[in-house]
Amino acid sequence: MNMKTEYDLFIDGRWVQPARRFDVCMPYDGTVVGTAPKATRAEVEQAIQAAKRAAPAAARLSSYKRYEILLKTATLMQQRQEDFARAVASESGKPIKEARGEVSRAAQTLIFSAEEAKRNVGEMVPIDAHPGGADRLGFTLRMPRGVIAAVTPFNFPLNLSCHKIGPAIAGGNTVVHKPASATPISGYMLAELFAEAGLPAGFLNTVTGSGGEVGDFLVAHPDVAMVTFTGSAEIGKHIRAIAGMKPVTLELGANCAVIVDEDADLDLALGRCAVGGFAHSGQVCIHLQRIYANRKIAADFTDALKARVAGFKIGHPLDETADITSLIDEPNAARVADWIAEAVCGGARLLIGGERAGRATVKPAILADTRPDMKVVAEEVFGPLVCVDTYVSLEQAVEMVNHSKFGLQAGIISRDIHRALWAAQHIECGGVMINDVPMFRVDQMPYGGVKDSGVGREGPKYALQEMTETKVVVINLAGGPK
Ligand code: NAP
Repeated sequence: MNMKTEYDLFIDGRWVQPARRFDVCMPYDGTVVGTAPKATRAEVEQAIQAAKRAAPAAARLSSYKRYEILLKTATLMQQRQEDFARAVASESGKPIKEARGEVSRAAQTLIFSAEEAKRNVGEMVPIDAHPGGADRLGFTLRMPRGVIAAVTPFNFPLNLSCHKIGPAIAGGNTVVHKPASATPISGYMLAELFAEAGLPAGFLNTVTGSGGEVGDFLVAHPDVAMVTFTGSAEIGKHIRAIAGMKPVTLELGANCAVIVDEDADLDLALGRCAVGGFAHSGQVCIHLQRIYANRKIAADFTDALKARVAGFKIGHPLDETADITSLIDEPNAARVADWIAEAVCGGARLLIGGERAGRATVKPAILADTRPDMKVVAEEVFGPLVCVDTYVSLEQAVEMVNHSKFGLQAGIISRDIHRALWAAQHIECGGVMINDVPMFRVDQMPYGGVKDSGVGREGPKYALQEMTETKVVVINLAGGPK
């Protein structure tokens, strides 16, 4: 493997040897794949102060330079796609073919961020449209916020880091990045790449260590101007509570649903549900957890989905042919298996899978006859499970989709565009995919949730708006030539 396995802290453009370290393990088999720094508060303080010192220079850096550095980072990443993919697969345990997809998406996220650096514009404000605004000209500037704390999860360790660091740099900010403890290596590789692409010292600082210690300190720190977080709803709410007056963007979890309508293209529905329900063993925030199938087609659809799921190959993350690898750790595998067992005890029917296999693997599963209050339906499963339920009317299906504390993305598969658009208008969430599953995402689109799925939007254009402050400038022209 080409992957460098031992990284130090990255602070002020230098590698700083940490006082403490921890092992990084491949979730699938527990093999140690590297070590990472377990930062102390004093080390996190150094990172914040480096970012603070660099903030004025970051704000002054021309838009063109920001564009150039982001684009160069993307190009270097594309050249080293295989190294990044192996690192992501090894630390997160996702199948190597999916890890390659993540790297190519991460490069696109950086390219879109580079392009947005050139479009970080304000607008003219018609000040004289107000009775008291005569002889005045106004416009807005998009000002950098300063030091941005970026806290990222394990499931897309590279692309979701780029979704924060890319727009932050594009907007003229500096960053302290805290990757998840399970997946620190790709975060440090990214810092290394930015430095090679010419990002000046202090613009990006990377620290790792437990969320409760490093993350809390970072989020609550008075020199941090904004927090951008992706992770669970539980930690997101905690972060919002301790962040004080700072703007906070929260990209949180979900229990996403799709409606498979009576006239749906069933081949399309099957193919997309197989991906949406089981990619990365369901550890995707827009994982398809709930399928609502029209009663007329539900039996045929469910039988065909079961046959597809039976064909998945379980294997090692670096096996080119593996579809299902493992969950992030043993406790999560045990949790998912327990939730399935609890649902079965409560009367649900397990159509396939659900057993533990190996260290942290759960066999891909389908449940039918679930109830809305079961954990497998109401909570975020974050595992390789879909629950299939039936409906009679579209109104009922939309009500079932909306019966959730979350609202990230949803899907409807239907040949009737009027029904699909009606559903899109009435489903309560951040995005609706027509003729697709909720898992569809390309990186420039606005992305984020309502309810417990979060606050704010990502996608470089939208994240840039969150990461810059509007300042209005008004010129009084009254004293000038008449
Ligand atoms: P998590 O446990 O919430 O952790 C996310 C990040 O927060 C990690 O870096 C974690 O550090 C850190 N953290 C933990 N406690 C903290 C604290 N008290 N203060 C500050 N930071 C703290 O989530 P995860 O298990 O890594 O990721 C899975 C979750 O992310 C799922 O709920 C999924 O739906 C969600 N997600 C959402 C999106 C989206 O865009 N909406 C995308 C991907 C994932 P440690 O690793 O050191 O604990």
